[in-house]
Amino acid sequence: MSFDHSAPRPRPKTQPKAQPSLGPSRRRPGLLQRRVSIEATHGIKVPTPCPDRLFPEPNQNPRASSTNRNENKMKTSETRINQGPIAIIGAGIAGLSAAARLREQGREVVVFEKARGTGGRASTRRSDWGGFNHGAPNFTCSTPEFSHKLKDWCRRGIAEPLRDPIFTLSHGEKTLSKEEPLHYRGIPGMSALVRDLASRVKIHFSTRVHQIHGSPGDWRLTLEGGEDVSGFGAVVVATPAPQVTALLTISRHLSSLVSKIEMEPVHSLMLYFDSPLDLGFAMARIKDSPLAWMNRMPTEGTPSGESWVLQSNPEWSAENMDTHLEEVSQLLLGALGQATRRKLPMPSSWDTHPWRFARATQPLGQPFLWLPQSGLGICGDWMQGAGIEHAFNSGLGLAGAINPALISLNPSRFPSPPPRSEPRRAIWMNFPVWVSA
Ligand SMILES: Cc1cc2nc3c(=O)[nH]c(=O)nc-3n(C[C@H](O)[C@H](O)[C@H](O)COP(=O)(O)OP(=O)(O)OC[C@H]3O[C@@H](n4cnc5c(N)ncnc54)[C@H](O)[C@@H]3O)c2cc1C
Repeated sequence: MSFDHSAPRPRPKTQPKAQPSLGPSRRRPGLLQRRVSIEATHGIKVPTPCPDRLFPEPNQNPRASSTNRNENKMKTSETRINQGPIAIIGAGIAGLSAAARLREQGREVVVFEKARGTGGRASTRRSDWGGFNHGAPNFTCSTPEFSHKLKDWCRRGIAEPLRDPIFTLSHGEKTLSKEEPLHYRGIPGMSALVRDLASRVKIHFSTRVHQIHGSPGDWRLTLEGGEDVSGFGAVVVATPAPQVTALLTISRHLSSLVSKIEMEPVHSLMLYFDSPLDLGFAMARIKDSPLAWMNRMPTEGTPSGESWVLQSNPEWSAENMDTHLEEVSQLLLGALGQATRRKLPMPSSWDTHPWRFARATQPLGQPFLWLPQSGLGICGDWMQGAGIEHAFNSGLGLAGAINPALISLNPSRFPSPPPRSEPRRAIWMNFPVWVSA
């Protein structure tokens, strides 16, 4: 599929005419047609109504028992979801961990990413002064799922444990942080992790998805600029929660659930000094300051100087989200001087990146969400925490739920839904939502 925004394409002969009055089963094209339609609808608007309700129920026999009806319902939707490629919105750790696992299992996936490269909040900014991990600088590991992947990355030289001790810095006082878990980094930068996950995945960069619409088994994405891409069996949204809400207007239940998640901002200040600072540490948490964290970038492949990435504390960033970035840089540089109680040289180069949605203040408490009858899924770090490991496990878990090899039509094979007294009750009452244990 190519996304040439400049060239309008003629309507291809294979393009099925929109027939809004037909039932879902007759409208559904076969796999081959579906592929053609994805190719062909690029740049062509196919007018079909956007349903308010998600699941038109096909071919129900009124005399069938409710159990049979439920099973039929599930079988039909599973068939639909298993046909057609899976669209994944977001090429961060979560989206790519889902994509990589689905690809391993033989599913066709197409990833849409608004940025020019992979990584999201785990990307590495390239510059003449070397790479800067301006999102996550490193990560920890505590679960078997992630540990399995991490071992593989370490074996292949894509990640390694960090040897430098972590300090706590407050008004110039430096103390060794005790009982820190082992931290890891990507080699040469954090983006190595996502590059590895993305290695066999088809990704469309600089392609922002504006809206999801269509019907189960035949989802369409409207891209920024108005183009429609159609024929997806399932759609996975792997973006920060506030961006999910904007995309999932088709499901009031999902969007109202997700809209409760708040994500706080962080500014990252990237600094390059011509000569080493000799601070006596490479990583430090910072207390009582607009800064929360600083770490030195590994020196391999960089010029003779020293690169640092500083992260603001989220409260400070929330107050300064509208401040001009140049002023933010100056304020954070001043805060660095105060935190180290050192007269530092001016960096020869600097840049600030504002992360509007850096981390969830209160995660959702589920590893992922999957609506099996519609083929809509959500994953991301904010589902159950705020970090690389949560993002990876969320995508992996969702891929497991989507994969037909792991899906049984017997719902008892899945973990039970939360008790009805929980606030998420509404979604369970309306649709079966399977989440992993
Ligand atoms: C400053 C900072 C410091 C951090 N420090 C750590 C740390 O020390 N340890 C740790 O483990 N974690 C840390 N994290 C968190 C870690 O980076 C995230 O948990 C993880 O990268 C989230 O991955 P994700 O795939 O869930 O989301 P993201 O990385 O946010 O990926 C979502 C992707 O979706 C794309 N997207 C959004 N909307 C659309 C759209 N409409 N169409 C197409 N694409 C879209 C985005 O461009 C992005 O690439 C830090 C994060 C930040 C910002």
